[in-house]
Amino acid sequence: MTITKEDLRRRILRKRIYQDPAEKERKDEIIRSRLFSLPEFTRAKSVLLYYPVKGEPDLRPLFTEVLKNGTLLLPKVRGGELALVKVKDPNRLRAGAFGIPEPEEGEEADPEEVELAVVPGVVFDRMCFRIGFGKGFYDRLLTRIRAPKVGVAYSFQVVQEVPRDPWDVPLDSVLTEEELIRRL
Ligand code: ADP
Ligand code: MG
Repeated sequence: MTITKEDLRRRILRKRIYQDPAEKERKDEIIRSRLFSLPEFTRAKSVLLYYPVKGEPDLRPLFTEVLKNGTLLLPKVRGGELALVKVKDPNRLRAGAFGIPEPEEGEEADPEEVELAVVPGVVFDRMCFRIGFGKGFYDRLLTRIRAPKVGVAYSFQVVQEVPRDPWDVPLDSVLTEEELIRRL
């Protein structure tokens, strides 16, 4: 009996959605401050972040931090791909293809220009493999990003091993409120 991506995805997503709000807020603060002091973050000028949905760690306070002396990139669904839009005003986002708030059309960055990619996900493992919502958007994007890729999650989203498909792109590290996992 092997556990499928779909089983894991459902189980962990449910747990994340029903997480106690006060507990979530406490962990979010820890995750943000750990990410903020990560050398990869300090070094990067051009940072890809994400808008939190379905209980994802809320990194929105870091939008402003990145904007202070760098370029904030947020993904925008375009066909089957994620375009990376340079965001000037994070208060001006609109629901896009999957109801996820996205920037309006604007100047875009090539994936090659990204200096740090912060990646959300539903399940991660200790080799830094990742399960997303099941549409492969980040797998397609990450093949083109050479910069460090850091997954962000709550510790209950990290399991020993997730099923791998040939197209899955592992991250360089996974950051939770409890630890920083670096791919060996
Ligand atoms: P997720 O990573 O979102 O959990 P999967 O890894 O299951 O989802 O991938 C979902 C689908 O995306 C797969 O069926 C696969 O065909 C497609 N896909 C992923 N990466 C690529 C790629 N590099 N090129 C083309 N299709 C891809
Ligand atoms: Mg995948």
